[in-house]
Amino acid sequence: MTVRDNLQIIGTKLDQFARQYQRSASDIQLLAVSKRHSITAIREAYEAGQILFGENYVQELLDKAEQLSDLNIKWHFIGPLQSNKTKKIAAIADWIHAIDRIKIAQRLNDQRPDDLLRLNICIQVNISKEASKSGILPEDVITFAKEIANMPKLNLRGLMVIPAAESDLAKQRKAFAKTAKLLAELNQQGFKLDTLSMGMSGDMEAAIAEGATIVRIGTAIFGKREG
Ligand SMILES: *Cc1c(COP(=O)(O)O)cnc(C)c1O
Repeated sequence: MTVRDNLQIIGTKLDQFARQYQRSASDIQLLAVSKRHSITAIREAYEAGQILFGENYVQELLDKAEQLSDLNIKWHFIGPLQSNKTKKIAAIADWIHAIDRIKIAQRLNDQRPDDLLRLNICIQVNISKEASKSGILPEDVITFAKEIANMPKLNLRGLMVIPAAESDLAKQRKAFAKTAKLLAELNQQGFKLDTLSMGMSGDMEAAIAEGATIVRIGTAIFGKREG
């Protein structure tokens, strides 16, 4: 199977799940998570029509963005971000998905170049309340979101989650449903958020069923990662 074949299969599944759960497929964006995959694989995906790519490691994203600067890729940074690494990411990414510290958001806001559009932000929520996971606790999200919303170079778009691993569809759906409810609560408070970044190769159906607007798919497109 080539990357092109895999993209086609995922695109078909995405359409099928959208239909099955009465969603519009055009409301669900496919983010190709290319971490630890080669420049060649990314080019192959791009040539098959994929524009949005997600990376987890700052240096890897910077290297790839440089080597692929001839392509019109939209880069989404989906990994944890340290404060000494914000500046370069602020200059190259369109989206940051895993914001859970005000200090990091503030630096991105201050460092976003003036000639670029606002940086799109998702707040990472620790929706399953796992001790080991990053993310804001659900009960703290509204306060956190209010602070982000005051940052003029950031565009708060919504929430991102990586729930506790479950193999059963019904259990997977529960965590995503909670996330969707939290987004609705924020919007009732006056926010205008349109993004639920949720669903990976193993739980894409559950995420689409519960309203995902960005699914982050790596393995199903590029195969297993090294290491
Ligand atoms: C690696 C990663 C993905 C993609 O996971 P797959 O299971 O390979 O589809 C999605 N989101 C985040 C935050 C990741 O780190």
